[in-house]
Amino acid sequence: MKHRRFLFILPALLIALAGCAAQAEPVQRTTFALGTVCTQTVYASGDGEALTLAGEELLYALDAQLSVHRAQSEVSLINARAGEWTEVSARTFSLIARAKALAEQTGGAFDPTLGVLTKAWDIAGEHPRVPAADEIASLLPLIGWQGIELDEAASCVRICEGQALDLGAIAKGLAADALAEIYRQADARGVISLGGNVYALGAKQDGAPWRVGLRDPLGTAEDYFATLAVQDVSVVVSGAYERYFEQDGKIYHHILDAQTGYPAASGLLCSVVVSADSTLADALSTALFVRGQGGLALAEAAGADALVLTEAGELFATPGFYDQYDFALNEGSNYVQAG
Ligand code: ADP
Ligand code: MG
Repeated sequence: MKHRRFLFILPALLIALAGCAAQAEPVQRTTFALGTVCTQTVYASGDGEALTLAGEELLYALDAQLSVHRAQSEVSLINARAGEWTEVSARTFSLIARAKALAEQTGGAFDPTLGVLTKAWDIAGEHPRVPAADEIASLLPLIGWQGIELDEAASCVRICEGQALDLGAIAKGLAADALAEIYRQADARGVISLGGNVYALGAKQDGAPWRVGLRDPLGTAEDYFATLAVQDVSVVVSGAYERYFEQDGKIYHHILDAQTGYPAASGLLCSVVVSADSTLADALSTALFVRGQGGLALAEAAGADALVLTEAGELFATPGFYDQYDFALNEGSNYVQAG
């Protein structure tokens, strides 16, 4: 079978439009980790280089612990030992515990146990393919966050035999939170951009909030349809256009619906979640993309603000979203604020 493959990992889904005033130059560092281009832009009174270097080391450490693409990662170890208890670091343990809780909270729209499915599709890997319908049907019973067992005292995790964890929808959120914490400790300000995951810490040099550009899902990587003014929060976007492949004229993207086993088809072009808790925002943006517009209530219940763009070009947000953030639709945008 011959298929064309279009696999893109775009450096920045969100364009952090970080204005910099004259008195201090930011330190910038770009790192490839967690399957994406990670950019740190820091304004520090102290040693900004050391700060971004510490950030880079943290990104590499998280990648080494959490990636399913590394045979030696803690997550790969849990998967290889499915059915048995595996001891993991405190950080990995708490992320898995958080992922389980968020899976329950989102009714499985976000489900970290769909590893067998992401492996079968291999959308972000070397050989993306459309699995046969009976193959997908055979994998569905292996998916379910209820299969994650946690022993906090022993820092051990166990999943059911045949199951596999995939923390790809939440790991960058944890990374953004952890980097933000490093900056906070050093009393620094800046913007952390990890693919579709941005953390804006503090204000700009002139005291104004950072303006984050929301990429137009129907445009090129440089096009954005709106900007959002944010300070001390993370903005996370999930969209079908970030990683996908095409076969027989059909697009298959990387956000899967654990109920069907196929890429989510909920009528959205993208989902945006804003929260000071980037781990939460990351899981919710994925869940929202799976659930569609109806998932806004989930985000609201979880205490986050969210916005969705439907395939019809309509924007819907959680109550208060537009009051809380300075949201500016680009002039000439075909999208409309519907509610
Ligand atoms: P991105 O990583 O592109 O920013 P997401 O945060 O939405 O986007 O995460 C997508 C990744 O998470 C996929 O590549 C896959 O590994 C995994 N994943 C896909 N669908 C789900 C889902 N419904 N729940 C949990 N993880 C998912
Ligand atoms: Mg996510």
